[in-house]
Amino acid sequence: MKKVLIYFLCLITICFILPAIFTNTTKTKQTLAIQNTQEENTSVQEATQETTQGKYSKIKLLHSKTGEIEEVDLETYLCNVVSAEMPATFEKEALKAQAMVARTYTIYKVNNKKHDNSDICDSSSCCQAWVSKEDRFARWEEDKREENWKKIVEAVNETKGKVVVYNNQPINAFFHSNSGGKTETPINVWGGSGYPYLQSVETSGEEGYTQYASEATFSNEDLLNKLKTKYADIQIDFSNNESIKILERTESDRVKTIKFGNHNLSGVETRTILGLRSTNFELEKQSNQIKFYVKGYGHGVGMSQTGADSLAKQGSNAEDIIHHFYANVEIKDVNEI
Ligand SMILES: [Zn+2]
Repeated sequence: MKKVLIYFLCLITICFILPAIFTNTTKTKQTLAIQNTQEENTSVQEATQETTQGKYSKIKLLHSKTGEIEEVDLETYLCNVVSAEMPATFEKEALKAQAMVARTYTIYKVNNKKHDNSDICDSSSCCQAWVSKEDRFARWEEDKREENWKKIVEAVNETKGKVVVYNNQPINAFFHSNSGGKTETPINVWGGSGYPYLQSVETSGEEGYTQYASEATFSNEDLLNKLKTKYADIQIDFSNNESIKILERTESDRVKTIKFGNHNLSGVETRTILGLRSTNFELEKQSNQIKFYVKGYGHGVGMSQTGADSLAKQGSNAEDIIHHFYANVEIKDVNEI
């Protein structure tokens, strides 16, 4: 009887208990495999979070349209910024330079706050552009989405934590779309005393980009009306060739002062009022209209994005590009400053 009982217990063990143990083990392995896959999927975020430990690991991003403030991981935020600020078709080294510039600009803003309760906003006209991954994908062709995003994430990852410093401080890393061949000093755009690392530099190859040249034409009446929004008493004798005249240019050949009838305006003011792409322009008076031929796109200070791409095409790496546009700077890890 005892033997039968032992035999019966062995049978139960073989038929039910052992399979149950193996199944549980298999399930555990499957669970681990799923977890590993999830970890691989989020490896970009985890890897970036590793190097952004410390003071600047998270930033408070203000969504300018909704007023919502979101706390985001710095490196993840930079992927969204780079994808908003520079075409993914640009050279990898240009994207890496953009990533370092955007990181530096962000940290400068964290230390020099412009907004209450947040570090930076998502508007390119105020701070720097940001686009959600979903919105960015919607604007890319379907078959290019993953490839483009991967290139941007790599550009951010390969420059992880790197910032541009002057005297061991993150610089005010201005950048713009196209310099028209020569960048501008900030003093000519915003006044003040300027920054030693923001000098005017020449870049070859920018003329090959669509952002390089543009035209704007205004009828005499339209021009006068636009100027009247700022100067109500403005008067222009359009029959007199001397009534509209460029009086002075900056060292980078941008318009410093221009005469419109009884008022002298700065190039920057003229650009804003007329919505020109830059202050680097020539004008042509025609019978009853004025034509502006504009070179470059943006304020012209700091790194030119198309210039960065052009330099990369000529063999410069991201560090070379940074040193070309910002004078006497160093590239350091954010946690070393
Ligand atoms: Zn802002």
